[in-house]
Amino acid sequence: MEQIRDLSDERLSYYCIYCGKAPDSREHVPSKVFLDEPYPTNLPVVPSCIECNNKFSKDEVYVACLLECVLRGSADIDKLNRKKIQRILTEKKKLQQKLKESLVEDNGKIFFKFEKERIVNVLLKLAKGHAKFENSEIQFEKPAYFFWKPLVLMNNIELDRFYSEEEIDLLPEVGSRALQRLISEGKLNWINVQEGRYRYYFSPFPIRVKIVISEYLAAEIIWSD
Ligand SMILES: [Zn+2]
Repeated sequence: MEQIRDLSDERLSYYCIYCGKAPDSREHVPSKVFLDEPYPTNLPVVPSCIECNNKFSKDEVYVACLLECVLRGSADIDKLNRKKIQRILTEKKKLQQKLKESLVEDNGKIFFKFEKERIVNVLLKLAKGHAKFENSEIQFEKPAYFFWKPLVLMNNIELDRFYSEEEIDLLPEVGSRALQRLISEGKLNWINVQEGRYRYYFSPFPIRVKIVISEYLAAEIIWSD
């Protein structure tokens, strides 16, 4: 598969974007577990270290599997839609068991208990990846704003805020992907990585990343300058 090289500031590629150590690996953003085959070509890659790569990968698998179970209202493998998640859960019996146990039935309604920390971990990690890819900036600081919620549970005020777009009165970093997009598209649009699976939005002042996974889980993360 072809991969886009990060055209942004090469100096920043000397660091793992998650921990700042020397990178000995590259990572797709978003991770492939959130996408289905055939994968889109030109998936963005960012520099990372193997340690971070492994650390996040377990949580990402958990979140991807949890989302699919929530959307299907079941943790039974044959009730799931995504082939990839079926494969993963067939292999990972412990995870399947955990998801089965996290399903709660109450008055005929189905709920899933979830591990909040792992979801937050994954969303923050994805947002850092998009920020690096779009604007070549590495975000080691804690975000100033972090909001996440299933889209279907957002009220109108939350939805308005989530879909609001910033006036761009300063241009993104020279040579950055965001600047290239701004020039060719006239504005910073949502980027559909894969229809129905993953989309994100980026704007540079302040660094603001919005993510929607499986048209269900939504997050907005802002770093102050
Ligand atoms: Zn690292």
